[in-house]
Amino acid sequence: MSEVRLRFAPSPTGYLHVGGARTALFNWLLARKEGGKFILRIEDTDVARSTQESLEAILEGMTWLGLDWDEGPFYQSDNFPLYREYVEKMLAAGTAYKCYCSPEVLEKKRELAISEGRKPKYDGTCRNLIEEVPGAPFVVRFRAPLEGETAFDDLIKGRISFQNEELDDLIIQRTDGTPTYNFTVVIDDATMGITTVIRGDDHVNNTPRQILLYEALGYPVPKFAHVPMILGADKARLSKRHGATSVMAYRDMGFLPEAMVNYLVRLGWSYGDEEIFALEDLIQKFSIESVGRSAGVFNPDKLLWLNAHYIKTGDPQRLAELLVPFLQERGVDSSVGPDLVEVVRTLQERSRTMLEMADGAIFYYTSDLEYDEKSLAKFFTPEARDLCTELVARLKAMDDLSHDSIAALFDRLCAEKAVKMKAVAQPARYALTGGSASPGIYELIGVLGRDETIHRIQRALDTK
Ligand code: GLU
Repeated sequence: MSEVRLRFAPSPTGYLHVGGARTALFNWLLARKEGGKFILRIEDTDVARSTQESLEAILEGMTWLGLDWDEGPFYQSDNFPLYREYVEKMLAAGTAYKCYCSPEVLEKKRELAISEGRKPKYDGTCRNLIEEVPGAPFVVRFRAPLEGETAFDDLIKGRISFQNEELDDLIIQRTDGTPTYNFTVVIDDATMGITTVIRGDDHVNNTPRQILLYEALGYPVPKFAHVPMILGADKARLSKRHGATSVMAYRDMGFLPEAMVNYLVRLGWSYGDEEIFALEDLIQKFSIESVGRSAGVFNPDKLLWLNAHYIKTGDPQRLAELLVPFLQERGVDSSVGPDLVEVVRTLQERSRTMLEMADGAIFYYTSDLEYDEKSLAKFFTPEARDLCTELVARLKAMDDLSHDSIAALFDRLCAEKAVKMKAVAQPARYALTGGSASPGIYELIGVLGRDETIHRIQRALDTK
């Protein structure tokens, strides 16, 4: 069997959108599953709308998601000579022709057709011109079949067919010599040997035109899989109204790429009731045939749930590295103070995003916490003050800070003073964190270390 070749072909006119990322992911997964190639092609022929910034944003998004490409990036803007060559070939073969109809005349005919209730369509005026008109401006049109039908078996949507009479004699080259979209896609997909085209279903209507071009050029027609669009909760097409649609915005909000990948693949593809897929697992299980026909609905809660899962089960060392920029944004220097990896371990269970984790980590690196009067009055009752003073004294005498010995110290203190654990833990927690919700008190002390723990409790005791 010949090699499976897939591609992702974004236009660099904006950031990497959630929908585009999912299309890229499906292509990538299939390429990896089949041991084929994944090619990146940048469709930048629209010079006015394409920007370097968008290009970089797209590459950054793909890299973040781990969607590495085997060939490319190729740029359509480098291929103008190739497109020219194919236009010439088609003109020579008679599968394309020059059309001299002026835009004004075409517009008049269009209006007339609409007013008479006909579908506007090129009427073929220049289709059978025998002579060229030297010096006159022209476009090049594809000589499309006038009868019959063009059909294909979409790997997701099933059989789709179009009547050829519905299709126009497509312009393949504009008056200024630039090629048009449907033409460049076909030339590139054909010359790059693309075997399966997976793309958004907004391209379904382009497909019969493209198939006719393949046939006219004598190239094999690839398989097509048109992925349904993504909707917001209100069933309208996913847009900024529904929240962030840029993949990188999710990184900035503290999502992990593996959560994003897992979420994106499940937006349209399913495998029984399974929700969580490691990448290797996905590569094995993915198939384009099990992508559903109906639109996926973007559900931010589900994404959050997956992210929490990946944070909980993630490697603390890696999470610590990812956390650093979030801490820096908050003015926190994690190079001094407790070991960040240990800090992360205490927060994994309780953080749904890296942003939440960063917020939760701030107190570890704030030696001089702000204690407010009301909370001090609440937590540091005379009894609590005595207990905390005693706690400080015992901590000073302790040199083993293991979880078990800290637990034993608390147990002994509570037993001797005949108080419940929370009588000590609540004021101590407040002194150590400046708040009332935090990781377990033993973990806290273990991570902060003896001296810092003593410093904070003493400071709270001394704050009037
Ligand atoms: N450049 C097109 C787009 O961004 C993709 C075309 C295709 O995949 O065939 O929608």
